[in-house]
Amino acid sequence: MSQYKYLLTEEDIPKTWYNINPDMPVSPGPVLHPVTKEPVTPDFLTALFPGRFVQEAVSMERWIEIPEPVREIYKLWRPTPLMRARRLELALDTPAHIYYKYEGTSPVGSHKANTAVAQAFYAKEEGTVGFTTETGAGQWGSALAMAGNFFDLEVHVYMVRVSYDMKPHRRVVMRSYGATVAPSPSDKTEYGRKLLAENPDSPGSLGIAISEAVEAAIASEGKYKYSLGSVLGPVLTHQSVIGQEALKQMEMAGEYPDVVIGCVGGGSNFAGFAFPFVHQNLTNGKNARILAVEPAACPTLTKGLYTFDYGDTAQMAPIVKMHTLGHTFMPPGIHAGGLRYHGMAPHICALYEHGDIEAVSVHQLGTFEAALQFAQAEGIIPAPESAHAIRVAIDEALQAREEGRQKVIAFNLSGHGHFDLSSYQAYLQDDLSDYAYPEDMVKEAMTHLPEVNL
Ligand SMILES: *Cc1c(COP(=O)(O)O)cnc(C)c1O
Repeated sequence: MSQYKYLLTEEDIPKTWYNINPDMPVSPGPVLHPVTKEPVTPDFLTALFPGRFVQEAVSMERWIEIPEPVREIYKLWRPTPLMRARRLELALDTPAHIYYKYEGTSPVGSHKANTAVAQAFYAKEEGTVGFTTETGAGQWGSALAMAGNFFDLEVHVYMVRVSYDMKPHRRVVMRSYGATVAPSPSDKTEYGRKLLAENPDSPGSLGIAISEAVEAAIASEGKYKYSLGSVLGPVLTHQSVIGQEALKQMEMAGEYPDVVIGCVGGGSNFAGFAFPFVHQNLTNGKNARILAVEPAACPTLTKGLYTFDYGDTAQMAPIVKMHTLGHTFMPPGIHAGGLRYHGMAPHICALYEHGDIEAVSVHQLGTFEAALQFAQAEGIIPAPESAHAIRVAIDEALQAREEGRQKVIAFNLSGHGHFDLSSYQAYLQDDLSDYAYPEDMVKEAMTHLPEVNL
């Protein structure tokens, strides 16, 4: 009998998150204050984030208990399935075995709900009224809107202006959960008003939207906390439920991956899926290749400088050590909005520099070609972000065919593409550009990096 789905029970939902801090072979570097450029005090961070979130950032506990109310909500969609992509294997005529972990089964259609629920619980626990946050394509805003609603918190979302205009249905999702949504740059913050005065038609960017959400949280003097859906250590930790479940499910399948693949924007779905496998590499004698996939138009790991940079455009968010294309860099308008970020999670950058993980960049057209090949074989229309992982999984499978070699490939399907149909429409109408690496823009942005003396 050929099995397609590897399913766990609610009992199998992890009881702890995996925190990679104690296993890091190299330090991800300090977090610096955006003005003093000195290592931040806990006070600065707790003004922005819930206290338990800040504690997790510095925690050296390898296994962090998942609070019971969070685990209860996880039961709405977790455990997620691990699928053997048998029909894709057939279509590719490859000897490789391809597995994917499907995070699109969450109510909001992506992995982002895994950390949104945890952050909302922490905020509620300490009596916060609500959250300010940014969103690009709308996935993060939707996830936090849902989680905030579960815990009776207000959620105020700054949505990158181009996406606000192009993805009206995501706005409806956020509003349905009770959140407010403003196009960024907005007239609600000082920074937004300044940008609108300079350019009323500014398309916005993730870096700008983060600046607005941070400003609004700080101005509220504790009423609102700021929430970030990626990049930071605790977010990566919360996402580790993905990889922990996948490890169990691979065991059910009686195989272990030779290569583990995920797409990277800020790095959270990749880390969530891959870090439990990195843990096996580092401590249990395993030797899987760990592969991060990024867009050629925003190739943070493969082309960015490994240095200190701001997390946002207005220089209000902390400075961290990461691969960056420069905080003033405005990535081209690729359809994978969730991958348009100038920086990358410091933990991923440190592991990349140290040689524990690899990275590759792919072009937009190739990702949509892979997405349709996947949809036609497996039935699921993937998010354009996830399609980056699919592209490389298919390339690995084709290489296995060429070499006549058995290989086990596992990738994270971070979300479905049901809110991205206008992107698919553009592709089907032959109306999609294949953005090259915007070298000149990056060069210019590199002249604005902060000077840090440590
Ligand atoms: C947001 C998003 C991403 C990119 O963010 P990461 O933090 O790098 O995971 C990838 N896939 C989907 C479906 C997303 O919503």
